[in-house]
Amino acid sequence: MMRLVLVLFISLLFTQPAWCGELTLLSRQVHNGEVAVLLWQGEPLSFGVVRFRNEVLYLYPDADGAVALLPVGLNVPAGDYHLLAALVDLHGQTTTTELVLQVEYKKRPEEHLTLPERMVTPVAKDVDRINRESYLLQEKFALQSPRFWTTFERPVDESVSGVFGERRILNGKPKSPHSGTDFRSPSGTPIRSISNGRVALVADLFYTGQTVVVDHGEGLLSLYAHLSKVLVEQDHELIVGDVLGQVGSTGRSTGAHLHLTVKLLGERVDPLALLATFEKLNQVKGLDQ
Ligand SMILES: [Zn+2]
Repeated sequence: MMRLVLVLFISLLFTQPAWCGELTLLSRQVHNGEVAVLLWQGEPLSFGVVRFRNEVLYLYPDADGAVALLPVGLNVPAGDYHLLAALVDLHGQTTTTELVLQVEYKKRPEEHLTLPERMVTPVAKDVDRINRESYLLQEKFALQSPRFWTTFERPVDESVSGVFGERRILNGKPKSPHSGTDFRSPSGTPIRSISNGRVALVADLFYTGQTVVVDHGEGLLSLYAHLSKVLVEQDHELIVGDVLGQVGSTGRSTGAHLHLTVKLLGERVDPLALLATFEKLNQVKGLDQ
């Protein structure tokens, strides 16, 4: 499939008719760990793709154009990235455009935590479980459903207690960076879905305890961790703001809080930066928040 898309993509590069509309980046500059948004505003497209860092991503048509969400992973080096887009209109006419996305490096804070040793260096019998669960999550994060998302909002009202990408030192050992955002919410606080979506997973997992994963479509998913109570089932359809569970401290947790991870096309991105990006996108597109 990818090969077919690549061949099509390359063949599209040789035609260049004029047409009506504008292809822009929502922000020409983003940090590593954020989402870049490529926006087509103009006549309807039948097909659009963009090449970013050797990957070909789709522009998904919508009411007033098309949108591509580009994950800029935490490990993407700072620099200028050339985006090559090919757009096909409803008559099959094609145009190509090149834009430059500037990635700036963001320094993340360091955090030292003390946890039960088994949660930092799992014993052999936990390793199998951890591997199984990691595979299950990867499978869910690879979903590419049609778009459910519209507007986005915070999952809880409380302030942030742990930022995305923090370099974590657990019991004195450096571990992988913090995969999401932590909110300082007391046990029992209702957790709201950050956007429209469908429940892709409800499970009790080693690290994240009682966990809900919501599929927002087009490769964008959110994961809510350490819940004390889950209030939805697999395949439930949710509207932005619908309550899906309650805050708790299950799994690898030092106390009640909500941990929110957001994945775009398999890449972890900063949930708060994503919310800010969508706020801006919806302003540009004239949608209500
Ligand atoms: Zn966390």
